[in-house]
Amino acid sequence: MNEIIYETNAPKETFEIGRKLGEKALPGTIIAMSGDLGVGKTLFTQGFAKGLGIDEPVNSPTFTILQVYDSGRLPFYHFDVYRVGDPEEMDEIGFEDYIFGEGVSIIEWAELIEELLPPETVFVKIEKDTEKGFDYRKITLDNFTEQ
Ligand code: ADP
Ligand code: MG
Repeated sequence: MNEIIYETNAPKETFEIGRKLGEKALPGTIIAMSGDLGVGKTLFTQGFAKGLGIDEPVNSPTFTILQVYDSGRLPFYHFDVYRVGDPEEMDEIGFEDYIFGEGVSIIEWAELIEELLPPETVFVKIEKDTEKGFDYRKITLDNFTEQ
């Protein structure tokens, strides 16, 4: 299903992949990120934000679930749902209004709310492989259409 695999060997390379996607992202894009803690989800997201033209710092919104950035080419909604216990909590913050709006959304730990993701969601999975080095990451894009 439109799978693209990247391999990176430095934080900057992962940032760059995010940045290039952010530069081309269309309104309504929804990106679901998965991968263990410390694998590079936020770094990828920071690159993506940069690509959208957002220059302010982008950090993991773990304690707020959602951080909104309006200073880029498109509104950017950065979700981190790590602490969401029940997908219904997402209704309370108006999840659908954001993801089905004109902005672009990235959801860290999206596997926790999988049932809320629409079919057009692009999946980005980041994995380590210690045999290939401490800074090695495999980044798999799924359901992605080149724009
Ligand atoms: P997450 O959001 O998945 O918990 P972060 O993006 O906050 O992860 O942190 C990723 C960490 O891994 C950073 O400290 C970064 O420097 C480090 N790192 C090392 N190599 C890479 C790489 N190839 N790609 C992304 N991050 C890397
Ligand atoms: Mg993170």
